[in-house]
Amino acid sequence: MSNEKYEFFKVIQEYLNRASKVVQLDPAVELMLSQPKNELIVHFPVRMDSGEVKLFKGYRIQHSNILGPFKGGIRYHESVTLDDVKALASMMTWKSALMRLPYGGAKGGIKFNPRNHSNGELQRITRRFTHALGSNIGPDYDIPAPDVGTTGQMMAWMMDMYMNTVGHTNKQANRGVVTGKPVASGGTLGREKATGQGVVHCILEWAREHRFNLEGSTYIVQGYGNVGSHASTILGRYGASLTAVGDHSGYLRSPEGFNRHKLAEWVKTHGSVAGYPAGQAITREEFFATKCDIFIPAALEGQIGVAEANALDCRMIVEGANGPTTPEGERILLDRGVVIIPDVLANSGGVTVSYYEWVQNKRSESWDLEEVDNKLEIAMKRAYKEVSDFSRARDVDLRMAAYSVGLERLQSAYRERDIFP
Ligand code: NAD
Repeated sequence: MSNEKYEFFKVIQEYLNRASKVVQLDPAVELMLSQPKNELIVHFPVRMDSGEVKLFKGYRIQHSNILGPFKGGIRYHESVTLDDVKALASMMTWKSALMRLPYGGAKGGIKFNPRNHSNGELQRITRRFTHALGSNIGPDYDIPAPDVGTTGQMMAWMMDMYMNTVGHTNKQANRGVVTGKPVASGGTLGREKATGQGVVHCILEWAREHRFNLEGSTYIVQGYGNVGSHASTILGRYGASLTAVGDHSGYLRSPEGFNRHKLAEWVKTHGSVAGYPAGQAITREEFFATKCDIFIPAALEGQIGVAEANALDCRMIVEGANGPTTPEGERILLDRGVVIIPDVLANSGGVTVSYYEWVQNKRSESWDLEEVDNKLEIAMKRAYKEVSDFSRARDVDLRMAAYSVGLERLQSAYRERDIFP
C-alpha cells in the first residue's frame, strides 16, 4: 500500500467524529479538538560534513494542552508531512487522556532521511532544530520524545541544547524538557522498551480474557526498530514464535521461528533486517499473507489497506505503530472477525513511561526498573479493561472504545473549565 494517498489527518478527524457521536460529545468540544491549537513550521540551516549548507524544514504541532503540557515524539523520516504530524499530535491527546496522564498532545518532525547522514550531521541537525523551536518547547510547556528515526542519543542532544539556552541558574530544572533520554542523562530505566512492553501487556490481557494460550502461538512483526524489536523480544518470553519480519529493507520468513534477540542485535548493528543470515527472503505480499496468530505492525501509518486486510491470515492485530490500519482495511478485518487492539491503547506504554521519567526529573529521583515496570503494568491493565468494558457495554469496536474513554475525560475538563475568557 502506498503511503502517499493516505490522508492520515482526515482519517483521525473521522475517528474523532464517530467517537464524538458515541459519547455525545458537546459539538463545541469536538470542534475545538478537530484542529491543533498551534502549528509551527521552522526552516533552519545546517552545515554538512562537506562544508555545504542545507536548509531543513521542521514541524511541531501542539494539538491540545487542556489536561497538561503538550507531549509527543519527534520523527525523522523522508515521508514526514504537516498533515501526518497533525494526525499524530491529535492521537497523543487521546492517548494521554486514555492513560490518565497530566499531558496534552503534540508531535514534531523533520522531513529527511537520517540514514543518509553522519552522526555529526545528525547532532547538528538535532541541535539546530531544538534552537529553532526555542521557547516553543519546555519542561512545563511542550515535551518532545523519540519516534520513528529518533533515538535516546538525539534526546540527549535536544536536552543539552535546551539546557544551555536557559541560563546557568535554571539549567538543572530543565532536564525534563524531553523524555526518552539515555539513563545517564536523566532518562528512566524501562523507557526504551516501554512501548513494546505495553504492546505485550495488551496481548497478555487479551489472551487472559479470551483464554488464548500464547505458548506455541506465532506472530509476525513489521518494523524491527524500537517498538517492533522490544515487543518481539518480550512476547517471545511467553512461548510465542516470530515467524516473519520485515522493515524498509525487505521481508523474511522462518516457519521454525527467528531468534528474536540475535535479530534485534543484527538490526542494531546493520540498520535493518537486510542480510540477516536466517530465514528466507519473501515479498511484502507474502509477508502479509503469512499465517499467524498475532500481527504487530510497528513501522508506519497506512500500511494495512484493502489488499493487506484481505491477505492477512491472523487472529489479532496489535497496533504498535500509530495509524497502521486504514479505515477501509479495518472494515474488512472487523468483518472477518480479526481483533484490532488500536494504537491509542496498544502503544501508549511509551508516553506512560515518559511521564514516569518526567516525574523523576522533577523530583530528582531515579526509580528501580521494578517500580517502573510495575507502574506500567497497572496502568496498561487498567486502560485495557476500561476499553474492553466500554466496547462490550456500548457494542463498539475497540478503537471507538479507546477514543471514547479518552474523549469523555477531555469533555469533563472542558465542562469544568469552560472557555476563557
Ligand atoms: P524506529 O525508527 O525505531 O523503527 C521504525 C521501523 O519501521 C524500522 O524498523 C524501519 O525499518 C521500519 N520502516 C520504516 N519505513 C518502512 C516502510 N516503508 N516499510 C516497512 N517498514 C518501514 O521507530 P519506532 O519508535 O519503533 O516507531 C515505530 C512506530 O511506533 C511508529 O508508528 C511510531 O509512531 C510508533 N510509536 C513509537 C513509540 C516510541 O516510544 N518509540 C511510542 C508510540 C508509538
